[in-house]
Amino acid sequence: MRSAWDPDKSEYATLLSDYPSFRVEQLWNGLYKESKSIDEISVLPSELRNTLVQQVGNGLTLNRVQESENSDTVKWLWNLHDDKQIETVLMHYDKRSTVCISSQAGCAMGCGFCATGQAGYERHLTVGEICEQVAHATKRATADGRRVSNIVFMGMGEPLANYANVVGAIRRLNTDFGIGARSIVVSTVGLVPQIRMLADEGIQFSLAISIHSANDEARNELVPINKRHNLKDLTEAGNNFYRKTGRRVSIEWAMMADTNDADSDANELAAIAKDMDAHVNLIPLNPTPGWPTVGSSPEKIKHFVGLLKEQGVNVTVRKNRGTDIDAACGQLRATSVEFKK
Ligand code: SF4
Repeated sequence: MRSAWDPDKSEYATLLSDYPSFRVEQLWNGLYKESKSIDEISVLPSELRNTLVQQVGNGLTLNRVQESENSDTVKWLWNLHDDKQIETVLMHYDKRSTVCISSQAGCAMGCGFCATGQAGYERHLTVGEICEQVAHATKRATADGRRVSNIVFMGMGEPLANYANVVGAIRRLNTDFGIGARSIVVSTVGLVPQIRMLADEGIQFSLAISIHSANDEARNELVPINKRHNLKDLTEAGNNFYRKTGRRVSIEWAMMADTNDADSDANELAAIAKDMDAHVNLIPLNPTPGWPTVGSSPEKIKHFVGLLKEQGVNVTVRKNRGTDIDAACGQLRATSVEFKK
């Protein structure tokens, strides 16, 4: 076990079998209703807290935190028990707060434009390490007078490569943190077999597919997993997900200057979006140190949006949050690693 959020309730009941059963309820409420770490749950005797921390591990340790100038975006860099590092981002909007969480330390997918992909894969996160990120962000949101209403698996890692732990975490977030399953978004670059498995899980969460290019030849370069699961297979898996769950998938597209923002890219994207009946989210690329490409200009994005709309595609341009705090996936960790050299 790596985190206080790893054991389920029955495992805690076993660990606390020498204590009255209300101690399990107090512990569970402290973790999931109050987002406290074990040593902060003061209704538990201190000797019990110490024993539990030794049994379930210390969880995430803060390495550093950055806030955007107006404090609407907070980004944490955490050290795991084995000194691997992950990132979590909290974003405040008008009426809600969203947490962007990591599912792996590093990532094996190798997307060249992504700071995490450039650094390579280290390991999967446990259910507890995934959920603990939400607990810390919830505590901060509460202090800011906000409530976390949405979770997005868009931080470090490919969530579907860590399938069992991500599905376990989604169930825990839904049942025990009380986050509506429909407000949880899992974002994948396209692991087709796992998308098919997800369609049969019976959970009403949302699925986002990061396509970034609607042309196999170009996508092989940009998103190397496309060589194994091409756009035709991916589109079929997306359609299967929609058919079985009744949940439309969304398409994520990072707008990169002179890479995927030509008229032909918009036309190819429109064809796939219409095939899947999908909503398209365009996100201007956050520049990363190891990739020469920068985000598309506002004029180019406006033109691209116009082409999609002309063809009947629903499209939203997402605001790029926290550019001043290295808020692209893997950037804070990348600067930290550089810092340590
Ligand atoms: S974009 Fe996502 S899937 Fe691709 S390397 Fe980065 S974290 Fe991994």
